[in-house]
Amino acid sequence: MSFTVLTIPCRSDNYAFLIHNESTDETALVDAPESQPIINEINKRGWKLDTILITHHHIDHVEGIDVLIQEFNPTIYGNQDDNSRLPKLDVAIRDGQTFTICGQEFQAIDVSGHTIGHLAYITKGAAFTADSLMALGCGRVFEGTFPMMWTSLSKLAQLPEETIIYSGHEYTLANGRFAITIEPNNPDLIARIKREEEKCSKGIPTVPSSLKEELKTNPFLRANQPEVKRLLNMEDANNVEVFAEIRTRKDNF
Ligand code: ZN
Ligand code: FE
Repeated sequence: MSFTVLTIPCRSDNYAFLIHNESTDETALVDAPESQPIINEINKRGWKLDTILITHHHIDHVEGIDVLIQEFNPTIYGNQDDNSRLPKLDVAIRDGQTFTICGQEFQAIDVSGHTIGHLAYITKGAAFTADSLMALGCGRVFEGTFPMMWTSLSKLAQLPEETIIYSGHEYTLANGRFAITIEPNNPDLIARIKREEEKCSKGIPTVPSSLKEELKTNPFLRANQPEVKRLLNMEDANNVEVFAEIRTRKDNF
């Protein structure tokens, strides 16, 4: 990769991501949960801020944008189809559109479900998924439907396995406590929970993760697995029905 990504803890459990290309000295931010930790990081490194990519309208992903505009005057990208609920966009994009920032081509893909109009930003080797696909979990389905969220997760599941998943929150241990109720004997899941607990005990973020480990351990991506269907006594159910069952159980967990 021609860029580096910094994970910036914000608020109580949010993450923002700074993407920096050393050779072009360009920096982009994915989501602005608050401004101060981001300003501190940019100033500490002597960077500027060229671009902000917004994933979705929730306040814990956009609240810092106004102050960051005053401080750095970045170009704001977000979903044209949700622009009435987003901060003012300089570049309004749509599902499937590509653009180049930090010397790198990105594609926005619609991953609605958590909200309608949620975008993920994909580039070679990395996906910024916010509250769609999360580490060992997925966002709660607030505005969309279960079929919609399943479709969104399925798009992300088809990326190359080595893709690094940059998601929006530190929810991983709680997600793990739920995941193990779905697949109590999944050895990859058992090993991952142990790894993530160790990271958390040292104050290390569990985000990002890799798509490869999500495919092996994330119950929401595994709704299409015969093994998971069997464990839920849903052998004859379709993938969406199984996803809906798992998501509903998590909501009540
Ligand atoms: Zn959200
Ligand atoms: Fe969020």
